[in-house]
Amino acid sequence: MFEIGVVFWAGRDRLADMMALGVKCGQVVVPGEFELSPASADRFKAELDAAGFNLGAVFAAFDGEDYADIPTVERTVGFVPPATREARAQRFLAVSDFAARLGAPEIACHIGCVPHDASHPDYVGVRDLVRRICDHAAKYGQTFGLETGQEPADVLLAFFRDVDRENLRINFDPANMIMYGSGEPIEALRQLGPHGVSVHAKDGVWPPKGVAGALGSERPLGQGDVGMDRFVRTLEEIGFCGPLNIERECEDREARMSDLRMAVGLLRGLAAAS
Ligand code: MG
Repeated sequence: MFEIGVVFWAGRDRLADMMALGVKCGQVVVPGEFELSPASADRFKAELDAAGFNLGAVFAAFDGEDYADIPTVERTVGFVPPATREARAQRFLAVSDFAARLGAPEIACHIGCVPHDASHPDYVGVRDLVRRICDHAAKYGQTFGLETGQEPADVLLAFFRDVDRENLRINFDPANMIMYGSGEPIEALRQLGPHGVSVHAKDGVWPPKGVAGALGSERPLGQGDVGMDRFVRTLEEIGFCGPLNIERECEDREARMSDLRMAVGLLRGLAAAS
């Protein structure tokens, strides 16, 4: 029986609203504007502790990231764009410090669309940076989770092995595999699962056919192409025992909360049946 968690945004979501879903664990995303000072961490930790909320990971989203379509993602997301790489590295190291003060065991982010050619300067730059982040995080006993989706599982796995750090992990998001057209998520889960430390329960549909560079779109859980029952059963088969962190991004706040409530119910049913 899997525990159900939620992915929420620091400074944008209210913890009370998340708790009202009936969940007691999850992951927090810190956007670029969120203050990462020790005082801010202490305030946030007091809030989490008072609520009895168990924080599994701190995710970073960076200023300037844009998920409009695949070429825009390649140009703007994660550590791949050289112009923002060092500034984002500094920000992410601060996220690691912040997470340590909260007692969260994992940090994570989208590192961007890693070039498939291992001799590409951006591949080398990102790989070396991921090593540096892992070494920083290791001082706190943290793992660093690479979010899936922006590359096929075999490319991510080759990169993962090349980085070669004990505390590097995968944060598996099945919807991203579909939305980026990176491969069938259940197969990818079997391939990446042995390195998985955390999971997003998110749903989505494949990119529209014949539109170059288009991304698929996110859907409420159970209404996309992931196949949530198969996803949950496969997690069980590979021996995963962590929480299923529901992730739902949509502009309409009411719709998002309603989708989150529905997702909790759906996963409870699937988890109980597994
Ligand atoms: Mg995700």
